[in-house]
Amino acid sequence: MRPYDVGIAGATGLVGQRLVHGLARHPWFRLVAVGASERSSGRAYADAVRWLLPQPIPEEAAGLVVSGCEPDDFGACDLVLSALDAPLARDLEPAWARLGLAVVSNSSAHRMAPDVPLLVPEVNGAAVVRIASRAANGYMVTNPNCSVTGLALALAPLDRGFGVRRVVVTTMQSISGAGLSGPRAVELVDNVIPHIPGEEEKIEAELGKILGRATADAFHPADVAVSAHCHRVPTLDGHLEAVSVELARPASPQDAMAALESFRGDVEGLGLPSAPERPIVVRREADRPQTRLDRDTGSGMAVVVGRLRPCPVLTLRFVLLSHNMVRGAAGGALLNAELLAARELLPRRSRA
Ligand code: NAP
Repeated sequence: MRPYDVGIAGATGLVGQRLVHGLARHPWFRLVAVGASERSSGRAYADAVRWLLPQPIPEEAAGLVVSGCEPDDFGACDLVLSALDAPLARDLEPAWARLGLAVVSNSSAHRMAPDVPLLVPEVNGAAVVRIASRAANGYMVTNPNCSVTGLALALAPLDRGFGVRRVVVTTMQSISGAGLSGPRAVELVDNVIPHIPGEEEKIEAELGKILGRATADAFHPADVAVSAHCHRVPTLDGHLEAVSVELARPASPQDAMAALESFRGDVEGLGLPSAPERPIVVRREADRPQTRLDRDTGSGMAVVVGRLRPCPVLTLRFVLLSHNMVRGAAGGALLNAELLAARELLPRRSRA
């Protein structure tokens, strides 16, 4: 297959760097454009970026000249992977789509829009039905907030098997989730910050859209009540979440474990290069998952669930861990792009 030509908007940021890394030697995608702010544009990528990954800057990216993020800057692409902050994404992402590009976004700007799929491919890959009629003309899809992705993955098999009614979730979110301009070291070290602006509202709104149903005409959100408590903790990568869930039908911890472990979701048989063999890994030790030890499970694409036990208030409770920069951001966006390619929904704008 001739690879699709891909641009990254926000290529110098934390998520952008992960996208650049993820596209290196990708079998279906070829990086052809990197966009960022005026501070970076006009410089070679290797000179403009403050590279923070342990792997070297991929050769195919190092020499690319950084552009801005105006629509014309991605004119030679089939697809834009967007890692811009929401205020910028709000106007730019629809402008790229109007140009005929497929836009796969990490930003919150359009997640809840009535024509934009909010995708976790294993959970609701079928939601691409909302963009099927616009596939040739440009459209947007998004991935969820980085805390919602892991939560949606862990709850999906429980919802399919037993019905999820109510959820209480307490997050312990790493500092990379705040981006390069996040809180300063003096605020983070030896500390827990019990507020992440807008985060609880995003979790409470987005979960219903993901667990709901999509038809060609509309999204029908799931009837699930969510109460979220979000905390910034001094870990580097990986969001740990303590979850209590009320189910519509009775389920023992053993029933739930079996449902989680056997879950493969809506990507089975598609051969998506970034899909982990098992999207949910269940740990049985009393003290797992742990952020530092378990965040790279499945190359950062698997959600790790542990401490699955009865809840004296709701039905069950457990702890989950999801890599916010991989499954929760760049890896999730790449998986979404792969889903669109596998479903033949990516426009072919670039020349051979
Ligand atoms: P970041 O590290 O702050 O990076 C921001 C990027 O935007 C940089 O490439 C920056 O370029 C570029 N930029 C800034 N101003 C610009 C402008 N005026 N025009 C064009 N580009 C501009 O942010 P991040 O953590 O990568 O997050 C990116 C997006 O992903 C956000 O919407 C965030 O909410 C979302 N997200 C993040 C995570 C996470 O765990 N971090 C998870 C899920 C979703 P310069 O280097 O030139 O300034």
